[in-house]
Amino acid sequence: MTNATINLYDTAVTQLRDVGAALRLEPGIVELLSHCSRELTVSIPVRMDDGSLRTFTGHRMQHNAVRGPTKGGIRYHPAVTADEVRGLAMLMTWKCAVVDTPYGGAKGGITVDPKQLSRGELERLTRRYTYELGDFIGPDRDIPAPDVNTDGQVMAWMLDTYSVLHGVTTPAVVTGKPVHLGGTLGRIEATGRGVMIAAQEAARHAGLQTDGLRVVVQGMGNVGGIAARLMAAEGFVVVGMCDSKSGVHNPAGLDVAAVTAYQREHRALAGFPGAAAVTVAGLLELPCDVLVPAAVEGQITAANAPRIQARIVVEGANGPTTPDADLVLLDRGIMVVPDILANAGGVFVSYLEWVQDLQRFFWAEAEVNERLTQGMRQAFAAVAAAAAERNVTLRQAAMQLAVTRVVEAMTSRGLYP
Ligand code: GLU
Repeated sequence: MTNATINLYDTAVTQLRDVGAALRLEPGIVELLSHCSRELTVSIPVRMDDGSLRTFTGHRMQHNAVRGPTKGGIRYHPAVTADEVRGLAMLMTWKCAVVDTPYGGAKGGITVDPKQLSRGELERLTRRYTYELGDFIGPDRDIPAPDVNTDGQVMAWMLDTYSVLHGVTTPAVVTGKPVHLGGTLGRIEATGRGVMIAAQEAARHAGLQTDGLRVVVQGMGNVGGIAARLMAAEGFVVVGMCDSKSGVHNPAGLDVAAVTAYQREHRALAGFPGAAAVTVAGLLELPCDVLVPAAVEGQITAANAPRIQARIVVEGANGPTTPDADLVLLDRGIMVVPDILANAGGVFVSYLEWVQDLQRFFWAEAEVNERLTQGMRQAFAAVAAAAAERNVTLRQAAMQLAVTRVVEAMTSRGLYP
C-alpha cells in the first residue's frame, strides 16, 4: 500500500502455491483458490460539502465461502486497489480457518483518503457504498468489519443503511459495531490483545521469559496502539513506537500511555520529550526482542530484512513481510508469527460478536477475553506443533493447516453440478 512495488495479491498467490506444492494439492485446486469466487466493484458518487460531486471506487471481494459465510474488514485508504483487496480477502480465508471459525474470507475497500473528508462526507460515502453492495453482504452471506481507517461508527452507518433497506434491524450484518448497537465487549481491543497473546506464546515457544522482553511496535492504530499498551501491562518493555510519519525510541522503555496521548494531541510524534526521534524505516531496524509490524503490508522486504535486529516478528498487520524477506528472516533464525495467526484475534472476537447477535444474548467482557485467550492459544499450539512435525516455518504451518481445512470442506461438499 505504501510500497507501490509490492502487490499483496501476488504475495498471497505465492504463499498459496508454496503450500499447494508442499501438500501436493491437485493443481486445479490451487488454481481455484488463487481467485476470489465473487468480486464486486462499484462507483460511489458523493455530494461533497462544497457542492461538488465526486465519484469514488469501492470493492468487496469474496474469496471463498466453503466453510461458511465470508468475513473480513473494509478499509478506506488512498492506495486501495482491486488486487490489494483480493489478496486481503484470500488472507481472511486462511485466517478464519487457522482459528477455526465457521467463515470464509472476504475484504472490502474504498480508494479514498478519509482524513480529507468531513464527517458528513464520510457518512454519505459509507451509506452509498453499503447501498451499492446491496445483497452482496448479509448476516448469513458476507459480514464486514472495521479495518484500516474504519471504525465502529462506520459499521453503525453500514448497519443502519442495510437495516433501513431491508426493513429489519440487522445487527449481525457487521461486526466491530458499538456495544449499544449489538457490538461485543472486548472487540475494540481484540486484535491488539490477540497480538499480545501471540507474542507471549511465541516467546514461550522460543524458551524466553516474557518479562522484560524489548518490543518495537510499528503503527499506532487499533492494532499497534492497543498491542503496545497491553504488552507493556504484561511486562514487555516497549522501546520503540511510530505512527505513519515518524517514531520514538528509548532503550530504557517508553511510557506507552504518554506516547499515545502525545500522538493524539499533536497528530504526530515529533517533539515527544524523553525519547530519541527515529524514522519509520529506522524503527523497524532497532535492537529489540519482539518486532510488531502493525501498520500496512510490504514493510519488511528483502532490502531491510538483513538489518532487522529482532528475535521474533509478530505480524500485527496483514502481509507486512514479503515472501523474499521471509526467506532472509528464516535464514537469519528470526521467528515470524504470521499475520493469519498473530492478528486473528480481531476476527475471532468478530465471530463471538456475531454469535451473540444471532442468539440475542450478550456476554460479560471477561467471558469474551477468556474465549479469545483460549482460541489464540489453541491456534498457536496447533500451528507450532505442525511446524515442528513437518519441519517448516510457522507461516508455512499456519498456511498448511488453513488450506487443509478449506480443501477438506471443499472435498466433502464436492462440486456442483
Ligand atoms: N479487519 C480485521 C482483519 O483483517 C478484522 C476482520 C473481521 O473482524 O471480520 O482481520
